[in-house]
Amino acid sequence: MTEGYVWLITGANRGIGLETVTQLLRSPSITVLAACRNPAKATELQALIEEAGGRLHLVALDITDKESVTKAAKEVANLLRGKGVDYLVNNAAILPGGLGDTAFGMDIDDLATTFATNVAGTAYVTQAFVGLVERSTKKTVVNISSTVGSIGFDFDATGASYAVSKAALNMLTYKQAKEKPEVTTISLCPGWLQTGELQSEMGGPNATHPVSVGVEGVLKVILSLKPEDSGQFFNFKGERVPW
Ligand code: NDP
Repeated sequence: MTEGYVWLITGANRGIGLETVTQLLRSPSITVLAACRNPAKATELQALIEEAGGRLHLVALDITDKESVTKAAKEVANLLRGKGVDYLVNNAAILPGGLGDTAFGMDIDDLATTFATNVAGTAYVTQAFVGLVERSTKKTVVNISSTVGSIGFDFDATGASYAVSKAALNMLTYKQAKEKPEVTTISLCPGWLQTGELQSEMGGPNATHPVSVGVEGVLKVILSLKPEDSGQFFNFKGERVPW
């Protein structure tokens, strides 16, 4: 069932996650576990199943729900029958405060909600799946981050609650990489991609690149990772991003 490497993508039903699944399935030997909150409603993913010929599996996973995460990890372990997850791509995230919130103006509930998904949810997914990652050949965890969470980059953009969450995610990457040097763990910014229809969304129509271009870059960077890259922050061009 699982020839070649196994990839698990969270938030796979739309945007960057969906494009990642689509591009990965072009490689004939890859198995893709597409995790999303509601597989029954993930019509675009479902449309890929037949053509994938058994290499695409939809997994129900809400990253903020511990029960859902542990259930998904068990389901994946059963499905893989002793094999591991080579690439865990923590892609799912939210931007409830929009691009316009500011440090002094943001709704603190938005900050808490953003943290619960982008930081705590991502941390728990990796805790639950790391055993499967360790059992794999590639042993790689990719936390999809953003340059807006980089202090060194000094990105002139708003969206304070989201930026704060991505800065915290970057520290999570750093801690994970230090604690488990046998796993290659990175933060990766996919570029500003046209994923949403509204300017208030993470991508939005004014974004600089089509989603396909960013995801091509993301996959190229992931596939060229070496163990010594662990604990670092890259963009979709493979350049280091300052913390
Ligand atoms: P979208 O808003 O298009 O998609 C977000 C995905 O995350 C959806 O599949 C959504 O599922 C899922 N998701 C949200 N909350 C949860 C949850 N609790 N459990 C499971 N899945 C969840 O975002 P993008 O594709 O644009 O962004 C993807 C990643 O890339 C994010 O980490 C984002 O921060 C990052 N990024 C994006 C940029 C861009 O320009 N687009 C720029 C820099 C970084 P559902 O449909 O159920 O809501």
